[in-house]
Amino acid sequence: MSGGFDAKLVSRCGIDCRVCVGFLGYTLSGGKSPEICGGCRTREKLCAFITNHCHKLADKDQIEYCSDCSDFPCENLKKVDKPYSEKFGVSLVENLMFIRTNGMEEFLKSEREKWKCPTCGGVICVHTKKCYTCETNKTGET
Ligand SMILES: [Zn+2]
Repeated sequence: MSGGFDAKLVSRCGIDCRVCVGFLGYTLSGGKSPEICGGCRTREKLCAFITNHCHKLADKDQIEYCSDCSDFPCENLKKVDKPYSEKFGVSLVENLMFIRTNGMEEFLKSEREKWKCPTCGGVICVHTKKCYTCETNKTGET
C-alpha cells in the first residue's frame, strides 16, 4: 500500500509533490485546476526557485536533492522554506534532513501516515489540508 508516495515525487528542494495541491489537480483558491501537475521532477523545466536562485543547479543535473549540496541549507533555500513553513506547516529543510538521516523509504512511510485522511484513507493536501477524495464524494464529481 504505497498510496502513490514515491521518491520521484519528492522535489530537489524537499517538497513532497504527492500532497501538493497542483498534483492533486486543484488550485489554492479551491477550484479544480485546468492542468494537473505531474510533480516537480517530471516537468521539463526546473522549478522557479532553482532557475532563479540556484546557480549551482541552474544548468546541470548534478544534485539529486538540495541536501546533497555543500551549501545546504543555503540562504536562498531558507528564504523559500521560511514562508512555506509558516504558511503550510511543513519545512522543506526538515524534510530533506529527515531524508538524509533516515533515508527515503522512511520519509515516504512517514508521509503516508502523516497525510492519510482519517475518513477515507485518501491523501490530505499539504496546502489546503483537504482530502479531495472525500471532497469529490461530497460534491458528486468524478
Ligand atoms: Zn478522505
